[in-house]
Amino acid sequence: MGILEGKNILVTGVLTEGSIAFEVARLCQEQGATVILTGLGRTFKITQSMGRRLPAPAEVVELDVTDPEHLAALPDAVRQHVPHLDGVVHSIGFAPQSVMGGNFMAAEWDDVATAVHISAYSLKALAQATAPLLTHGGSIVGLTFDGRFAWPVYDWMGVAKAAFEAVNRYVARDLGPQGIRCNVISAGPIKTTAARHIPGFDQMESKWSERAPLGWDSDATEPTARAVTALLSDWFPATTGEMIHVDGGVHAMGQ
Ligand code: NAD
Repeated sequence: MGILEGKNILVTGVLTEGSIAFEVARLCQEQGATVILTGLGRTFKITQSMGRRLPAPAEVVELDVTDPEHLAALPDAVRQHVPHLDGVVHSIGFAPQSVMGGNFMAAEWDDVATAVHISAYSLKALAQATAPLLTHGGSIVGLTFDGRFAWPVYDWMGVAKAAFEAVNRYVARDLGPQGIRCNVISAGPIKTTAARHIPGFDQMESKWSERAPLGWDSDATEPTARAVTALLSDWFPATTGEMIHVDGGVHAMGQ
């Protein structure tokens, strides 16, 4: 018996086999869940082909998390495959390159707004859209990069992540009475497509493994995905509004 036996999980953010969400989807299936993926726009077909590479082929529904029509249509689209959900994974992040890479002071609001919309507000939007499907309560899990600090080159994405972490606490407050938990995993740097899009990402990543008491492999998504899977299970029944670090221990070190 897996820890997600009989559960239905919606996983956003599968773009490549290197996506954190791909490993989450794989582990969810391994632990007994039925997984539905979301995909969008030009990359929808790529997500469909990723869905076929999972241990069990996964259906894909359309979701651009900034599109109100997609959000409104999401419950019916999901119900075509499963009657309800037990878990939702928010693995979505984007910021224009103009607001990262050391351009903090030069950034303009329209680009910052895009980052905040897709990377922070979207957790509320996704939670609101899926709450009617979480009829037995459930677990929403997001991915962050510790927004308490000013990092090299992360710039406005760091601000968006700080907002994302605050949204996590408010979603936990407002959906808790329906038995819905909401938590985020703060992962160390991993060389995914989103990470490669950050100009100067290597400045964030290069010293991480030296600073981490447990070491850190920035090619490995499994440690992060395992923590997401655990939060989706019934083994964190009284935890919500939390940020759990999966970073090799860097967050706890002085330098
Ligand atoms: P990724 O590029 O594989 O995934 C990012 C996903 O966001 C893609 O699937 C993309 O399609 C999706 N996305 C972008 N705009 C969207 C929109 N409007 N609607 C719906 N989906 C949209 O990269 P990843 O590193 O696996 O990123 C997943 C999450 O993990 C992100 O929130 C990221 O910030 C977070 N994270 C990543 C790292 C890292 O170092 N890679 C570290 C900590 C946290």
